[in-house]
Amino acid sequence: MTIKSARVTAYTAPYDEPITNGLYTYTHTEICVVELETTSGVVGIGWTHGGKIVYEALKQVADVVVGQPLNTERIWKMIYRPKIFGRRGLETRAQSAVDIAVWDAIGKESSRSVHQMLGGFRDSVPAYVAGGYYTKGKGMDALQAEVSGKTKKGARAIKMKIGAVPLAEDFARIDAVKEAVGPGVSVLVDANNAYNRLDALKMARFLETRDIYWFEEPLSPEDNDGAADLVRRTDLPIALGENEYTVTGFRDLIDAKAADVLNADAQILGGITEWQKCVHYADAHHIPVAPHGDQEIHVHLVAAVPNGLIVEYYDNSLNRLKDAMFHQQLEVNADGSITAPTRPGLGFDLNHAALEKFKVEG
Ligand SMILES: [Mg+2]
Repeated sequence: MTIKSARVTAYTAPYDEPITNGLYTYTHTEICVVELETTSGVVGIGWTHGGKIVYEALKQVADVVVGQPLNTERIWKMIYRPKIFGRRGLETRAQSAVDIAVWDAIGKESSRSVHQMLGGFRDSVPAYVAGGYYTKGKGMDALQAEVSGKTKKGARAIKMKIGAVPLAEDFARIDAVKEAVGPGVSVLVDANNAYNRLDALKMARFLETRDIYWFEEPLSPEDNDGAADLVRRTDLPIALGENEYTVTGFRDLIDAKAADVLNADAQILGGITEWQKCVHYADAHHIPVAPHGDQEIHVHLVAAVPNGLIVEYYDNSLNRLKDAMFHQQLEVNADGSITAPTRPGLGFDLNHAALEKFKVEG
């Protein structure tokens, strides 16, 4: 069987309040979806985050694979066209979405989940709940209420944003969060590339005294040497990689000894086919992987491999688009883990009726 047709759609929805991390403020969620229908009638779905640029790239990439069999390596080489689409960037997200849709279709054709097809190392994985953004008028009380609300829903690890305010202010926010969640819950911090080398080291020295699970993206994604220096100088685990692309990018990160944990995101770096290569290269260097990105995809991937550490989990109820997107939702278990669905493929069906009002292209 081959890919008969490709449908590409772009969706967007506003947040109730704009959310800010170390460097950026987001007013909307933007997601581009590709649906690949095969000659046997199966529809594989893939999606990635991004707006107009990703949508246009995705249309081009999706057209290339129509008529092709579901051969992941063959398709990947066909859609990786540096001279045409560029080597690493938003266009790589488009390639990622197509590759993810191919894997979803293969799973549906063979009645196996992606987690099972990729190795099925374990069925459930630890999760951390992402949040702790800066929003307008959000004081310490609101921050504490937010994170304790997450722990009441089962979270055993939570992540907060840092880097948008002076160091001393973030020190106080971190202490407030630690106090709110109590001793049994891990706290992760994420600077989203906000710091220079000096401030990153000052923050790391503080975090070392606070039993923090990891310090994510302290520096620019262009500063592998600085990250490697920080890895050497602090006992705190340094996590990064959500802004890295393809196995060659991850090879360079790993060879530079720039991270203790890799946040390899299959929706960004080139899809599931490329993710496996990054993660196996990491495994050969005894480095664990904890993907950034959507839990509906990454629960399968982290559960599939022996060096999967933990999955990022977003509460979709705070995101109108993600909340409406699928007929199924992934919940956090009572022990803070999430379980890989055993339904064929990724196991998530698009709720087209609910998505209609968020459609902007396609
Ligand atoms: Mg991050």
